[in-house]
Amino acid sequence: MAAVGSAEYALQHLIDPEVCIRCNTCEATCPVHAITHDSRNYVVDFAVCNNCNACVAPCPTGAIDHWHQVVKAMPYTLDEQLSWDNLPAPIELEVGSQAEVPSDVRALTEIATAGQGGPSAPPWSASHPYVNLYSQGRPAVATVTGNYRLTDEGASADIRHIVLDFGTAAFPVLEGQTLGVLPPGMDDSGRPHHVRLYSVASPRDGERPRYNNVALTIKRVNVDHDGKPVLGIGSNYLCDLKIGDKVNVVGPYGASYLMPNHPGSSLMMICTGTGSAPMRAMTERRRRRRALKEGGELLLFFGARVPEELPYFGPLMKLPKDFIDINFAFSRLSDQPKTYVQDRIRDRVDKVFQMLTDDNCYVYLCGLKGMEAGVIEAFRDVCRTNGSDWDALKPQLLAKSRLHIETY
Ligand SMILES: Cc1cc2nc3c(=O)[nH]c(=O)nc-3n(C[C@H](O)[C@H](O)[C@H](O)COP(=O)(O)OP(=O)(O)OC[C@H]3O[C@@H](n4cnc5c(N)ncnc54)[C@H](O)[C@@H]3O)c2cc1C
Repeated sequence: MAAVGSAEYALQHLIDPEVCIRCNTCEATCPVHAITHDSRNYVVDFAVCNNCNACVAPCPTGAIDHWHQVVKAMPYTLDEQLSWDNLPAPIELEVGSQAEVPSDVRALTEIATAGQGGPSAPPWSASHPYVNLYSQGRPAVATVTGNYRLTDEGASADIRHIVLDFGTAAFPVLEGQTLGVLPPGMDDSGRPHHVRLYSVASPRDGERPRYNNVALTIKRVNVDHDGKPVLGIGSNYLCDLKIGDKVNVVGPYGASYLMPNHPGSSLMMICTGTGSAPMRAMTERRRRRRALKEGGELLLFFGARVPEELPYFGPLMKLPKDFIDINFAFSRLSDQPKTYVQDRIRDRVDKVFQMLTDDNCYVYLCGLKGMEAGVIEAFRDVCRTNGSDWDALKPQLLAKSRLHIETY
């Protein structure tokens, strides 16, 4: 299929014939009978499939786990799929290449990833991300379907969980990607407000599985970095949105801060505040696939001033201890000394060193710029305690795409 014009896109569920072992599990599982086969291939009928994903977990090979973006009016037919030996290459969309990411978004990304020397390669087993499908001249229009406060009403930080629904517009995202929001109105020089980037906080199959929606974790900016009162344009616009409001969205962006997919891969996640958004997405992806027993550990360091200001504190506390190892750090508890994520990393020196030196462990850092230096110093100490050298280890982590930093 060739590049397409301004058509309506959809995600088409496909089965990879190269990987499929023709075990019939998917056809037997599909509740709407969208899957059929001949002597050659198992195929999915686009007109019948409701993307319920019931077939995905039971598939023993993962051949079933493919969604290609197609022009909605021109999906792959059953005859086409039955003739395949391999999946076709994903279609080239009108505006879909990393090279075409707008310069202002590229600049923000470069600043955010400065701590690792700029954007890097993704983990070798990461899924292929779509980038830059929607531009400022042609944004996707999403509908707000959720907006609730994550932090306690009394807490000074107003952090919100906002759910955007894309209706029939294809907006495929992977955990760790960002999207851009275009706040309405003009800036002081009479130009449209520039794009604001936000990390996706939900897994690839939607905030609600099988819905075409995405969650964001937004902090209302009401003081600037120096503590002066200010009303942040993008964050206040988002935090004040009502259910049913429409939002212009661009992106998705990001082709390196992605999670590994191979069984046995572990994640070390370090975040503060809204830096929890990509960690929530990755954790939720792993939680939804837990029954597959793919293995791999999750180690989380999460910092806030007090528990009341920690987004997703309640749901995190409910996760099983053998699923995720959570280490909170609170810096403003009246009865305890100030503790930051770097202190908790030092407390777990053996575990952290083991994971830093495990080629199957991928390290993610996200939050305000200020957290980065302390975490890197803690890694340096962890290495030193174990007779190793962070300055020698860091380039190895980067070369293996095992260290991912996004701070803003
Ligand atoms: C890769 C990336 C991912 C991001 N992900 C998220 C996310 O998941 N959730 C989220 O809430 N934000 C996230 N941000 C930050 C977001 O893009 C905006 O910068 C933020 O919402 C502030 O925008 P604003 O329009 O409200 O403030 P502006 O109107 O742009 O700025 C108002 C003033 O506030 C200052 N300011 C800007 N941001 C902050 C801040 N965080 N704290 C204190 N002062 C600030 C500015 O310097 C300026 O002086 C991310 C940024 C990047 C680069």
